[in-house]
Amino acid sequence: MDDFDEARTWMVERQIVQRGVRDDYVIAAMRRVPREAFVPAELREFAYDDTPLPIGGEQSISQPYIVAKMLAAAELQPGDRVLDIGTGSGYAAALAAEIAGRVDSIERDASLAESARERLQRLGYENVEVHVGDGTAGLAAHAPYNAIIAAAGGPHVPQALRAQLALGGRLVMPVGSSLSRQRLVKIVRRGEHDYDEHAFAEVRFVPLVGDDGWPEPGGAPHAQSRPAPTPAAPKPAAPKLAALEIAIRDAAEPLPDIDSPEFATFVDRFAGRRVVLLGEASHGTSEFYRARAAITRRLVERHGFSTVAVEADWPDAAIIDRHVRDRPMPAERSRPFRRFPTWMWRNTDFMAFVAWLRSHNAAHRDSETRFYGLDIYSLSESIDAVLRYLDSVDPVAARIARERYGCLSPWQKDPAVYGRAALSGGYAQCEKQVVAQLGDLLKSRLDYAREDGERFLDAAQNARLVAVAEQYYRAMYYGGPQSWNLRDTHMFDTLRHALDSGGPQARLVVWAHNSHIGDASATQMGRVQDEINLGQLCRAQFGDAAALIGFGTHSGTVAAASDWGGPMEVKTVLPSLEGSVEFSTHGTGLVRFLLDLRPGVHDALRERLRAPLLERFIGVIYRPETERYSHYAEASLAEQFDAYVWFDRTSAVSALPVCADQKDSVAETFPFGV
Ligand code: SAH
Repeated sequence: MDDFDEARTWMVERQIVQRGVRDDYVIAAMRRVPREAFVPAELREFAYDDTPLPIGGEQSISQPYIVAKMLAAAELQPGDRVLDIGTGSGYAAALAAEIAGRVDSIERDASLAESARERLQRLGYENVEVHVGDGTAGLAAHAPYNAIIAAAGGPHVPQALRAQLALGGRLVMPVGSSLSRQRLVKIVRRGEHDYDEHAFAEVRFVPLVGDDGWPEPGGAPHAQSRPAPTPAAPKPAAPKLAALEIAIRDAAEPLPDIDSPEFATFVDRFAGRRVVLLGEASHGTSEFYRARAAITRRLVERHGFSTVAVEADWPDAAIIDRHVRDRPMPAERSRPFRRFPTWMWRNTDFMAFVAWLRSHNAAHRDSETRFYGLDIYSLSESIDAVLRYLDSVDPVAARIARERYGCLSPWQKDPAVYGRAALSGGYAQCEKQVVAQLGDLLKSRLDYAREDGERFLDAAQNARLVAVAEQYYRAMYYGGPQSWNLRDTHMFDTLRHALDSGGPQARLVVWAHNSHIGDASATQMGRVQDEINLGQLCRAQFGDAAALIGFGTHSGTVAAASDWGGPMEVKTVLPSLEGSVEFSTHGTGLVRFLLDLRPGVHDALRERLRAPLLERFIGVIYRPETERYSHYAEASLAEQFDAYVWFDRTSAVSALPVCADQKDSVAETFPFGV
């Protein structure tokens, strides 16, 4: 078995079978067709990733799961005649040809059609014929068809295609009045004029351009093109709440304003836990910071929590720790969080929390609360070092690195980045030097940790960190999901050190993104991509002594960048997508509340939330243009979290500028200026 065979077997298992595709013909076909032969040579390493990939022009080869889902919906049978619209790379046509008797595939782009034809021939698919033309007219000469599938989205189902379905024939295509979002529609022809029709998934396909589709991009509307139809049924003025929305509303515990002393009382039910993990649905939302600060204050003041550990570089957090415990500062490194993404910690909400922690500690010298960064490998600092190095030796590789880091999180996909990532061989050539450089950086960080006076790491832990650092830095250099498991395992190890160093009674609060603290095994990350995370590891280690509390929002503004290293922008958060957990939560009409998701509390709601729904994840990068792909993943909320805190509308954090020339400004003295 070569690497591709193995990757294909794994892909079919994780992305297709485990996601619920049951059609044995489709599964067998997916196991046979070599997707690596259908993607550009430079992108082969990504052939079995859970994502569409660019194949030239503006076109892409579809995500394997979506192709499988469409083919399964089309119920292909041996012997069927199939029409495939939008040949593209020919991948879907090859899958159909594995099952059906004969496949006609139409592509409007002649050069794509030509390469697909050659490829299919080379791979031995003799029952496929590739035609150049406008698929919206179908292919009357070879009709009727038992199945028609289209890999491009139109404003409606072209009339010709309905007419070319055999009786009992199935048509599956993306339909939508927007160029970029559609629903997959299935039509079954029951009689001469009798068609069953239903939509079954939200998707994002390239536009179906043709006489009975969308007009040519950029060009004048096509003479015969029809205007996009208005939705068939006008929405009722006051839509009835769906069952899920009612169940959420019934279980919701309304919360007072964050500044109210009563806001955080809900956390008392988790007061007996050893670790309470507080999430966030973005890295730049004020409400999430303020809420976590209020909850943490209560856990510290009333319930004896003694450590706060956050998703931040360890050396920067160590400076905050010295500040809040009023210890002397080391000469260099006195200005923490000066690297991208600075607003994550250099913001007014975090600053207020630091000020509170400092005054709390001043009044409780014998039981000070400590502050740690979970990332000893210092993700931000390391990436910063990589980028500075690449900028000086290979600017093309530096550009690629910036894009790769924009997609560091497992939920974040942008097919265009894959395309650009393949531009340069220089990137791979720089790997060795970069990894060596990061190794040196780590040494200086560990020296610092040793001299910290508190002996956070002993010699054995130090040695272990150094031993696995190379693997970590190599994965991190390439970005993407491989680095995720290493990173979260490593954050978990730091968390355990932090707990251990606080003694057997120590109890700890964590601040990290929902994607780190919500149990990954309840999400697409864990179920499909085999990724683990901090929350899952905490549950495995501490069982019921860990509380995982997620946060969510529907709309508002967020502080985020468009690319790694780019400037912070205050971006509008798009209203949540239909079909997402946020959409249903928003549907309750409540502005701020808690959902207690512990077993035994609202079991009927838990049951309803068991089925995976889309959930939005915004990190330091927010790309609303590709939001569905870049920021949504499937999750079963009730299994992901023990509780969920909802703010219907949220706003961006107020960042403190990082400017060297304003020596007296509050920003410059952060965090000590308060
Ligand atoms: N099934 C393809 C994915 C193709 S992407 C694969 O597996 O690789 C969609 C394709 O539809 C693009 O190649 C685009 O050029 C083509 N397309 C768009 N409108 C079309 C039309 N009216 N007729 C035929 N092809 C069309």
